[in-house]
Formats: sequence, structure tokens, C-alpha cells
Amino acid sequence: MGQCDTPGMMALDEALNRLRHAVTPITSIESIDLTRGLDRIVAQDITSAMNVPAFNNSAMDGYALKAKNLEQQSSLTLVGQSFAGAPFTNVLQHGQCVRIMTGGVIPEGADCVIMQEQSRADGNDIHFLGKANINNNIRFTGEDIRQGQVILSKGKRLSPSDIGLLASVGQASIPVFRRLKVALFSTGDELRLPGQPLSEGCLYDSNRFVVAAMLSRLDIETLNLGIIPDDPQALTDAFTTAAKKCDAIISTGGVSVGEADYTKTILEKVGHVDFWKIAIKPGKPFAFGKVNDALFFGLPGNPVAATVTFHQLALPTLQALAGEVVKTTMSLNVQTHSAIKKSAGRIDFQRGVLSSDHNNACRVDNTGEQGSGMLTSMSKANCYIKLSRESTGVDCGEDVEVIPFDRWLS
Ligand code: AMP
Ligand code: MG
Repeated sequence: MGQCDTPGMMALDEALNRLRHAVTPITSIESIDLTRGLDRIVAQDITSAMNVPAFNNSAMDGYALKAKNLEQQSSLTLVGQSFAGAPFTNVLQHGQCVRIMTGGVIPEGADCVIMQEQSRADGNDIHFLGKANINNNIRFTGEDIRQGQVILSKGKRLSPSDIGLLASVGQASIPVFRRLKVALFSTGDELRLPGQPLSEGCLYDSNRFVVAAMLSRLDIETLNLGIIPDDPQALTDAFTTAAKKCDAIISTGGVSVGEADYTKTILEKVGHVDFWKIAIKPGKPFAFGKVNDALFFGLPGNPVAATVTFHQLALPTLQALAGEVVKTTMSLNVQTHSAIKKSAGRIDFQRGVLSSDHNNACRVDNTGEQGSGMLTSMSKANCYIKLSRESTGVDCGEDVEVIPFDRWLS
């Protein structure tokens, strides 16, 4: 055991490793129209059926000509035009040029384009002011994409540019993995729905709203089962319904060791579940397992802890389950302008604000109070300040590891 290993607490990397190994990505594929492809996961490598550009064309408005012609003379005779979609169909002869617009096909016999600003027209005599160089201002066949080239790899989540890329090679439909379906509920007798009156000792359910919003960003279909009371029968029913209909189940609350924390006893009956104490702050209690074929994630009740554990542990696992190739997280070394207190033992995911000053130097500040129930700390933040298990705090001016919030959180 290392100096900072705390008995009974699992390292974050170990938890991630176990989650990775527990996942069998879905295999079912559907073909969808390109216009519905945003955020879907590509199910096969996609190769291009064509070259892009499909023909040599002009990058400028100007004149197409043979560069060598301008070695002996400075003006050429205009014999036609090549506009985008309306090519010049003859072969260019010695001493001739063609008016060409951006995207126009380079006529046979031409090997460069001179931009309009470097010419002067006198009827059909075009005078060229500068020198001509072979290949100038020509966009060549296949210079962006070669026919047969892989343009998108299996497991890529389709971005707006990916959709454009597919359109640019003429592909109207795309094979994607089917969407995941995830059941979500919160547990707790004290929880009330926003919009309802709040009785003494109660609070509004916020966890389910955070997680549902993140699931929706992930393009996951959600079966939202609402608030389940701390009642063994109600919990058993929720788990069985969820497991029948979904690829994964997410609950919040009830995973610690309190009197009303029934999740553990119920799950031991209906599935196989491990309860982990993960060495991160916020978010120590976390449960993971399976109910029939559905993966189960039991998030802690405190809202920041629920958000951080969902983001760090459940989310990459759901991405892998959906067939997505998960990108490595970007992390930066940035000078902190906040002194941060910490004791050794757990990785701390402080919430921070990353910004730059007028010299483009980066700085990070924490968002102030960091209680695991304080959702304002999350809402104000645009990054985590990640402090290692061993860290015993940092002084103002020290470099810290900063992880900008990804698109799931911001
Ligand atoms: P638990 O893990 O169920 O003991 O909950 C820990 C703390 O989080 C308690 O103060 C709960 O009231 C609070 N909590 C549990 N679930 C939620 C929720 N869905 N939204 C907001 N707070 C919650
Ligand atoms: Mg509870």
C-alpha cells in the first residue's frame, strides 16, 4: 500500500479499469438518413466512393491559361468561360485564355489560374500583369479526399463537420449503432418535484435533472422513472422495470450506509452489485453492477457528488457501451490564483474558472465554497481543478492540473 492509499477506498483509475472491462459494446446497427446523423455513433469505417474535389478546379476568380504562354507574350486572347457547374468544353490552344470562376473546371490545355486582380481586359485581349506559375490557384482532384480513403472511423460520434464531410462525398445515409436506452430514478423520501410545495425537512430533487440533461446531450434515450421513495418494494419494482426495458440503470442516493439506504439490500436480491468507496472528492460512495443484462450505476445523493461521479465514471462507460471510441481527456497545467486546502487521501475535483488575461496568459480560480451539496460550485465553473491523492493543498501561484469541462457538462 502506498503512502496515500486509504484502506477501503478504490483508486479512480482502478474503478475506470473495472468499468472498461465490464462493458460489452452494443452491436446492433441501423442505417439512418444523413440529416438525422448528428451525435450518432458510426458503426463501421466509412470510405469515400469518390475523389474530392472530383476534378481540377479554380481556387480564384480569374483566367485559366498555360503558364508557358506568358513567357513570350503578356496578353492572351479570351476564347470562352468556365463557371462553376458550366465548364469550357473545348481544348485551350496556344495564345488563348478562358475566363474562370472559383470552382470552375480547369479546361484541358490550361495549367494555372491568374487572379482577376492581376489582369486588365481590353475587349478580348487580356493583359497579365504578373508572372504565371504552373499549378497556381488550382485545387487538384482528390487533394482533400482520395477515392477509397477512410473518412470516418468506427466509433466516431458524428459532429456537424462529419455530417458535412459525408454529404461532400455524396453519402445520403449512414450506418450507426442503435441509441442506448437508460433508466433513471432518484431515491429519497425527502425529495420533491420542482413546482411542488416543499414541506419541512424536504428538498427538491436536482440530481435527476442534472443526469437527465447530460444523458440528453449524450443522445441517450431516457426512461425517467421519477422519485422512488425509500421503500424496499418500490425500489424492487423500479429496478425490475428498468432492467427489462433498458441497457443501463442509473439511480441517485441511498448508496451510503444510512438507515434509509436500501439500494444495497435490494440490489443484492435483484442483481450483482459491488459497492465501491472511490478515492475521489466529491463522490466517495458509488455502486456498480448488473441487473440481468443492464449495467447499473448507483450515484451518491449529494448533487455535486452525483454529477462528478456520473461524469467521471458512468459517462465514459455509457459511451463505450454505445460503441463510441472515447477520446482522452484534455488536461492543462495552469497557474492557480486561489490557494486550495486539501488533505491527502482522495483525488479532489475542485470546481474552477479557467480564464485568460489581456496577455493571453491562462489562470484558474476555484469557485469558492466546494461543498458536495452546492450545485452553484458546478454551475459557475468551466473546469475542474484536479488535485492528486497525495496533494496536501496548493498555494496561490502554483501550477495545477486543469480539465476544461467537455461538452457533456458545459
Ligand atoms: P443519500 O445518499 O441518499 O443519503 O443522500 C445524501 C444527501 O443528498 C442527502 O442530504 C439527500 O437529501 C441529498 N439528496 C439525495 N438525493 C438527492 C437528489 N435527487 N437531489 C438533491 N439532493 C439529493
Ligand atoms: Mg437517501
